[in-house]
Order: sequence, then C-alpha cells, then structure tokens
Amino acid sequence: MNKENDRLVMTGMRQEDEDMEISLRPHHLREYIGQEKVKNSLGIYISAALKRHDALDHILLYGPPGLGKTTLACIVAAEMGQNIRVTSGPAIERPGDLASILTNLNAGDILFIDEIHRLSRAVEEVLYPAMEDYALDIMIGKGPTARSMRLDLPKFTLVGATTRAGRLSAPLRDRFGIVFRLEMYTPEELSRIVARSAGILGMPYDDGGILEIARRSRGTPRIANRLLKRVRDYAQVRGDGHITAEVARDSLNMQDVDSLGLDRIDRAVLSAMIEKFGGGPVGLDTLAAVTGEDAVTIEDVYEPYLMQLGFIMRTPRGRVATPLAYEHLGKTPPAAPASAQEETEQTTLF
Ligand code: ADP
Repeated sequence: MNKENDRLVMTGMRQEDEDMEISLRPHHLREYIGQEKVKNSLGIYISAALKRHDALDHILLYGPPGLGKTTLACIVAAEMGQNIRVTSGPAIERPGDLASILTNLNAGDILFIDEIHRLSRAVEEVLYPAMEDYALDIMIGKGPTARSMRLDLPKFTLVGATTRAGRLSAPLRDRFGIVFRLEMYTPEELSRIVARSAGILGMPYDDGGILEIARRSRGTPRIANRLLKRVRDYAQVRGDGHITAEVARDSLNMQDVDSLGLDRIDRAVLSAMIEKFGGGPVGLDTLAAVTGEDAVTIEDVYEPYLMQLGFIMRTPRGRVATPLAYEHLGKTPPAAPASAQEETEQTTLF
C-alpha cells in the first residue's frame, strides 16, 4: 500500500486538486508569488528573446513536487505569446512518440516535459539533436539498406521539470541553457498565495486564518491550496464560513496536520528514529523497513521538509534526528557526548 497517496499533505497531485489547480494557477509572471531570483532572471531572458524575435533557450526546472514547475512553464508560454504542449517522461514510451510530438510543434512553441528524468535512453537520444540542432534523425528502411535521414524541426523551447537534477543523465542536463532550482516557500509567501486563492474562490478570511494554513503547508503551494479547501468546508459546517485562525487550527488539527504541517507518517518516521534507534544514525533502508514506506518516498517526500525544518540531518553514516525533532514530539533530547558533537561539526564542515 502506498500511504503517501492517502495523505492530506502529500506533495503530488490528488484527484481533488485538478479543477482547483486550473482556476488558481497564475498565468503571468507578476502573479507568480515568491521564487524572486528565478522570476527576475526569467523576466530578463523572456524580454531579451522577445526583443530578438527568437525562441528562448531550453529551461530545466527542478525542485520537489507542488512548488510551481508546471505553472512556471505555462507562464513562460503566456509571456512569450506562444502555445504550450504538456507531456511527461513516462507518457513518452517510444522514440516514435517523441518524434510525432516534435514534428507537430510550431516555431516558438513551448514543449513541457514533466518528470523528464523518466525518459528512456532511446527516447533521450532523439531529444539530443532536437534540442541542439532542431533536427530529427530518422531511420528509413531496415537491415543493410537502412539509411538515416535528417528532418528539420521548428525552433522550439523545451521546458523540462524534475524533482532532482541529479537524476538526469549528464548529456541531457548539459543541453539545457537555463537551469533553475525552485525553493520551498516561506510562510509569508505562502500566506500571499493562500490569500490570493481565497480571493479567487470568494472565501472570507482574516490574516490569522491565512497564516495558520500557510504555516502548515510544508513550504508547498499545492498543499496550501488543498488545506485552504479543507478549512473552507470546516468553516462552512462549523462556523459562518469565515476563515479565522481558530477555524483553521481546529480544522487542521482534526485532520491530523500539526502546527508545522507534519502528519502521522512524518511523526512515525521521527518517532522510529528516536525510539528505536536512539536518534540515529539510521540508514535509509532501515527507516523504510521500520515505517513501512519505501525508501525513495522517504527520500523524495518526507525528508526534504523534515530537513528544511532542521529535524533531520544527513550524515555519512545515516539520518540523525536533531534536538528540534525531539522537542517537537515532546521528548527530551539526549545530552550529546563530546565525540558526537565533533562528528556533527565535521559533517557540517564538509
Ligand atoms: P509542480 O509542477 O512543481 O508539481 P504546479 O505548477 O502544478 O507544481 O503547482 C501546483 C499549484 O500550486 C498550482 O496549480 C498553483 O495553483 C499553485 N502555485 C504554484 N506555485 C505558485 C506561485 N508561485 N504562486 C501562486 N500559486 C502557485
């Protein structure tokens, strides 16, 4: 069973997000909240390309799910005044699938490939000349008489998205002229996102209510919008529909999302580290076995936020729970022996 898909605070898309994401997705760079560095650079690249009447360089966006990669790709298309074609790594199974997408593009189009690290090697090989020379090499015939023919493609912009840049093969990564890493959002930025969404959906709110939702959204706009929807339902049933701090707190506590956005599974991961392994170091696979989650999910989904909070540290010997994690769970951290102190310092140094 994949517990991740049952979580209210999961970072990936849930069925319930689909309609809402379409209505809440910002369409222009000025509506896109946070990620200031990315926005500034992108704004310059877009203006320059528009001035030159040229296509933008290929762009790679990386960062955890729900941080706004798809949104940013759509914004690039809107700001450039071009069409966007959206697809994903797993959807492009064979080289022929990609060839047909590429030959159907028009000059200036944006091609967005989500989860681009999941393209097969054979498909990737079609992408290299397409990105570099705007060309498609196709084989005609079979056996000894087969020959390769080069087709010209329109000048397009590829926007690739991945959760981790390290997962991409080096030749593919090297072909992106622009690489942006999206950061988790601060509670203040998330408050602005939640307020914007509440405004669009016509929900009455006060600042305290919005901040309470923002604080529990794990730095992720997708989660912020989802929690907002849940709080609205609660506000309508239990109150007068107004989103206040009290309504947000009660509603999210009831749904097991705590004051920092941790849910039962996060707390189970931390508890396992603390209670079963004296705070660690614990290997990723051991942690996976004890909590019943798979190692990749722990690494991609739970860890980034727990590390962002400073609850978990990665050391060469495994994961370690920090005193902050103990405090959050209401436990007393062990007094650190001098040698452990040294080891921690070493780890942060290198
Ligand atoms: P990703 O592609 O990284 O998984 P999305 O682009 O699908 O994430 O973002 C999920 C939702 O979060 C969007 O539908 C949008 O409503 C909201 N969102 C993401 N980033 C922002 C932002 N910077 N400002 C406002 N809303 C955002």
